[in-house]
Amino acid sequence: MTNNFLLSHRKEEPEKGVLYVVGTPIGNLEDISPRAINILANVSLVACEDTRQTKKIMNKFSISNNLISFNKENSSNKTPKLIAELKAGKSIAIVSDAGMPGICDPGENIVNEVKLEGISVICIPGACAAITALVSSGLPSSKFIFEGFLPKKNIDREKILFEISKNEKTTIVYESPHRLKKLLNELFEFCGGEREIVVARELTKKFEEHVGKNLNDVILYFKDKEVMGEITLIIRGRKSKQNNELDKIDLKKELNELIKAGLSLSAASKYLAKKNGIKKSIIYNLS
Ligand code: SAM
Repeated sequence: MTNNFLLSHRKEEPEKGVLYVVGTPIGNLEDISPRAINILANVSLVACEDTRQTKKIMNKFSISNNLISFNKENSSNKTPKLIAELKAGKSIAIVSDAGMPGICDPGENIVNEVKLEGISVICIPGACAAITALVSSGLPSSKFIFEGFLPKKNIDREKILFEISKNEKTTIVYESPHRLKKLLNELFEFCGGEREIVVARELTKKFEEHVGKNLNDVILYFKDKEVMGEITLIIRGRKSKQNNELDKIDLKKELNELIKAGLSLSAASKYLAKKNGIKKSIIYNLS
């Protein structure tokens, strides 16, 4: 694509009093649309998660504009001011450091608050790590669940891991490189080593890699490696059960949950046996 192509498409004037939610690249700076560049160059001001990151994009495309910082720490303070500016007729773009604002990044709350005030919001779509990883994983991509980063607190984390183990849809998870191995071991414990998974690392960047295909393989691959870069995991949903097929991993997890919640082994086994229409001894033996 030549610069002429970009220039010939720089026609859309930002509308007055509109908040633009603008997607930016997740690594490769070329992954930005001419429309996004135009809006970033021509709105009244750009609210950025980190002005230094946004400046890199602006410099790359030789554009400049008023940048202000808008992040997790200052967003509740700044939102009323931005709403006042929008009501006064200014056009504002919101961008995060990478990808789509509002996806594990600032943006969600201001969009909500702005809409409550009757102000229009227009999205200029761009890259999103979750979708980029999903569509290149080879796993079912039409129906999926996006979990973002898993909670850190054990009880909340185990609840989500349990849900992932049971769900039949593909799940997308974000994780930091230094916590990847811990998460893979937890997924192994909850889903078993045969569960299909793709670890997408450094998408759109020079050292992009896609590591699959099941948890056994992926754990082995990363075992002696120092994990670096940005990571998105795509986990295949559980295969639907055949009639009367017993899922021992699920039953064991449920048994552990009940015991953790205070039931005795005997009471928990009795309850699960009745629920699943099977002998108590089968459940008891799982422990
Ligand atoms: N708003 C972003 C989006 O639309 O994808 C996500 C922001 S979230 C704070 C950052 C996380 O996204 C990273 O920790 C990683 O899990 C994932 N991520 C971002 N860029 C990535 C990349 N190039 N490759 C793989 N995962 C990436």
